[in-house]
Amino acid sequence: MAEDSRSELLSLSAYELAKKIEAREVSATEAARTANARVEEVEGDVNSFVTTTPQLALERAERVDARMKNGGIKLWESVPIAVKDVLSTKGVRTTCGSNILYNFEPLYDASALLNYGEDMIVVGKANCDEFAMGSSTENSAYGPSRNPWDLDRVPGGSSGGSASAVAAGEGWWALGTDTGGSVRQPAALCGIVGLKPTYGRVSRYGLIAFASSLDQIGPMTRDVRDSALLLQAIAGHDPRDSTSANVAVPDYLAELEGGVSGLRVGVVKELMGEGVQPGTRETVESVVRGLEGAGAEVGEVSLPHSRYGLPAYYIIAPAEVSSNLARFDGVRYGLRVPAAGVHEMYRKTREEGFGDEAKRRIMLGTYALSSGYYDAYYAQAQKVRTKIIEDFRDAFSRYDVLVSPTSPTVAFEIGSKINDPLAMYLSDICAVPVNLAGIPSISVPGGLSEGLPVGVQLMSDHFTEPTLLRAARATEQVSDFKFTLKP
Ligand code: GLN
Repeated sequence: MAEDSRSELLSLSAYELAKKIEAREVSATEAARTANARVEEVEGDVNSFVTTTPQLALERAERVDARMKNGGIKLWESVPIAVKDVLSTKGVRTTCGSNILYNFEPLYDASALLNYGEDMIVVGKANCDEFAMGSSTENSAYGPSRNPWDLDRVPGGSSGGSASAVAAGEGWWALGTDTGGSVRQPAALCGIVGLKPTYGRVSRYGLIAFASSLDQIGPMTRDVRDSALLLQAIAGHDPRDSTSANVAVPDYLAELEGGVSGLRVGVVKELMGEGVQPGTRETVESVVRGLEGAGAEVGEVSLPHSRYGLPAYYIIAPAEVSSNLARFDGVRYGLRVPAAGVHEMYRKTREEGFGDEAKRRIMLGTYALSSGYYDAYYAQAQKVRTKIIEDFRDAFSRYDVLVSPTSPTVAFEIGSKINDPLAMYLSDICAVPVNLAGIPSISVPGGLSEGLPVGVQLMSDHFTEPTLLRAARATEQVSDFKFTLKP
């Protein structure tokens, strides 16, 4: 395929590409070749992937093309995708960014992937912080990913590789996971759209668990329409995940262009102040003015307990980690460091297999759950969680959509926070309350500050993704940001 038609394909959104393929103007195989070539071209700079799968992408694309001839495919199935390396892919190495799973090949695909289609065109397994714990991908055992906007800066995390892949055009869209901001924060830092659906909206079966009461899989895309389409592809009830919601899946594209006239938009007071960079605050304010101009009813709203979100999260998430990560012991899969006796083998395997952040969380979580401390930490954090849920309930009785920055800062330099866990944790201060409440939330690029993208976070009530996406679409339209491939 000629160079210029490749770059033309690369300039399309996923939706536009899928439509072109549907109209037989280009094949899925050509799309897969284009994605593979782009990976070859930029991967040395951005390191978006732990494992690239060019051959698999081609084989699957050929099958999609064949199936198109014999009937039909779902619109999205022809679009090459990057998949975060915490999602199980049958026969394809799945590391969770950890040395402890350096050789793990799952026996089945995650349900979200199967929902998308039998021949998902996976271009690679995207890099991430180890077991999705982090905000920069620097906690990956496979080296950090780099922000395509500035290669000396982080792409955010933990789904940083998914974000850098989309921003760099290594596939047209990606799946990430969001436990405390990990879809939205990297999307914000890389100038793309990241959606965390309502807890339970997308099956977690086959997602290697970080914090089970918070984890959710979400789309990372070039624009809001792509986000709606990818959510359509992966959402739905799954009896294999007991926390999956048996709630009908609406048509996420139907209301998308409905605008914000009369929509009640509340700007969250507590998330606009201290610690938020002036350029970020100004970008959010300017987008809010734009929404008001487009007919939204704008007001200020308070989430008084949101300031306790981060401390509560850093008890609850590590507590669940200490339990979820107990299964990695060198016995059934992954790394095994041989030793005399089984206890010594466990110890050495976990010592060598886990990185510093994973160990820190396991220790924090074990402590918070231990007898004598459980009430003071874990039970207390759960009470705070309830308070945060009540704050949101109250806010949604008056507003349809809430707004804040996604991240208090633009992308920071690689190495600048890695030795300061608290500074790193603060990166998710705006994102975390959403996960504690289980509500959906989306980050949309609002503009640039210091030449780097700023994400605007929108939040809405449980299972109101159609409203959220409609507001996000309007946000995209009032912002002066346009997706362009980097680097
Ligand atoms: N950065 C947060 C953490 O380190 C959130 C991670 C996530 O959402 N997976 O826990």
